[in-house]
Amino acid sequence: MLYPNLCVACNNQLHASERYLCLGCQLQLPETNDHLKLENGVEKTLWGRIPFERAFSFLFFNQRGTTQKLLHELKYKGNEELAVYLGEIYGQKIRKTAESHGINAIVAVPLHTSKLRKRGYNQSLAFANGISEVLAMENLSDFMVRVKATDTQTLKSRTERWQNVENIFEVNNTQIFENKHILLVDDVITTGATLESCAGAIVKNCNCRISVASIAFAA
Ligand SMILES: [Zn+2]
Repeated sequence: MLYPNLCVACNNQLHASERYLCLGCQLQLPETNDHLKLENGVEKTLWGRIPFERAFSFLFFNQRGTTQKLLHELKYKGNEELAVYLGEIYGQKIRKTAESHGINAIVAVPLHTSKLRKRGYNQSLAFANGISEVLAMENLSDFMVRVKATDTQTLKSRTERWQNVENIFEVNNTQIFENKHILLVDDVITTGATLESCAGAIVKNCNCRISVASIAFAA
């Protein structure tokens, strides 16, 4: 398999042992280490809205920083393998936390089919695939569907954002979620409205526990 031989963050030549990021950039990733901290920023954002057990993001979103470059690569250059790779890295980091909480299944926040066609792939799913592979978790992403396409959230107020994403997700096999502790995976957490809607669709229908993980936290 051929990998691009330049670091996606600093454009320096990669060594043969490096993939996507040079070691220097990988060591300097703005990691939140949320999984090691109770009441971290993500948990405070979602508190009282989702009945979650733990919530954590891999990276802080920094304008014009490495996270921004990575997300740009995922979103506009269709670098699906990079999303999987980031999931693999993060999976190793959260292994102990996931095990101690008994997290045993993973679900990516789905894209609507129209958006999927436009984007080519779902970066949340690719990231989730990387995590589930490393942690040997059951991947239940196929059983969650996005039944409505939504407008962009960017210019909306908090209330409008919530109305925009209400009832847009459905679980198409409730049985399979029963008694699981699900890691619900999104790409970037900002207001948490999308996650709130997605988690709501799960807990409404299934007796299960939910934790949350994302690539970046931008609050
Ligand atoms: Zn680099």
